Amino acid sequence: MKATLIYGAGDIRVESVPDAKLREPTDAVVRVLRSCICGSDLWPYDSMPAHSHGDRIGHEFLGVVEEIGADVSGLKAGDVVVAPFVWADNTCDFCREGLQTSCRHGGQWGSSDVDGGQGEAVRVPQADGTLVKLPVAEDSTLLSSLLSLSDVFPTGHHCAVTAGVNPRTTVTVIGDGAVGLSAVLAAKRLGAERIILMGRHTDRTDLGRDFGATDVVPERGEEGVERVRELTGGDGTHVVLECVGLKPAIKTALGIARDGGSISRVGVPQYRDVPLDFSVFLRNITLTGGVAPARAYIEDLLPDILDGRIEPGRVFDRAIGLDDVPAGYRAMADGTALKVLIPP
Ligand SMILES: [Zn+2]
Repeated sequence: MKATLIYGAGDIRVESVPDAKLREPTDAVVRVLRSCICGSDLWPYDSMPAHSHGDRIGHEFLGVVEEIGADVSGLKAGDVVVAPFVWADNTCDFCREGLQTSCRHGGQWGSSDVDGGQGEAVRVPQADGTLVKLPVAEDSTLLSSLLSLSDVFPTGHHCAVTAGVNPRTTVTVIGDGAVGLSAVLAAKRLGAERIILMGRHTDRTDLGRDFGATDVVPERGEEGVERVRELTGGDGTHVVLECVGLKPAIKTALGIARDGGSISRVGVPQYRDVPLDFSVFLRNITLTGGVAPARAYIEDLLPDILDGRIEPGRVFDRAIGLDDVPAGYRAMADGTALKVLIPP
């Protein structure tokens, strides 16, 4: 079968690899119907040292169960399923607490002998715990929105939930990437009425307005902080959703959080230190967020997609075939594509 490998920064290849097949009795094999490229895939694409061997890559996919191991009881061949961006047993103490990203028997796609999602098929470990059955057919028009349940939409949702978004909170979202736009949609879904989106790509912020943003602030840095403060009577917003992961973004977040408010970060942090100094202490700011346990949220978010109330799949603005994945990475890295969908 074909799958995507990364050999180093800027070096993505689609190659023949051994077919996905059952190894453990708890495995399933899933034929991939849709996968995609994640903003977090761009970090190794930007900076990974060159290797002589390739590493499998891709952690968001949706597909059809082809085969199940002897111990898999909740799935059967032909089921359409979505996989969250880490696999997990969904039964250990962390999983029961809704923190499947810390599963005692879980792990990451594309690492240590586990297939990546950007390929024709995937061996899914802990299939009963990992996969969520979707009540749709293989040709459903909802597939791209359902694929967003793998990572990007639950990540935006996690950001909003951990920050405590509700109908009484004002919200600023920093970043108009796919996660930022998903955070806007999630905040709106949780009832926020005032959502300020900080971003400067008008095609993206327009989608942000469709998702529920009430104001758009293109300015960055000190100027951006001032602009948000102006819009909020000088106070800033109760909640700041930091969906970038760079140090200037966390500094902006600290500048626009209202006293007593919270900042949630879900952008993979590319910095070591957060300046939580005495002035932040005096303002009672809470810092929260982290990697999203997507598996914990899928059942909650799924009905709104099935009913057509939300369309998180609108963040996909380009679709390519598997052979064109290297070009898809280039398009996301140079900013000409927001999020790239990979049909089979
Ligand atoms: Zn677990």
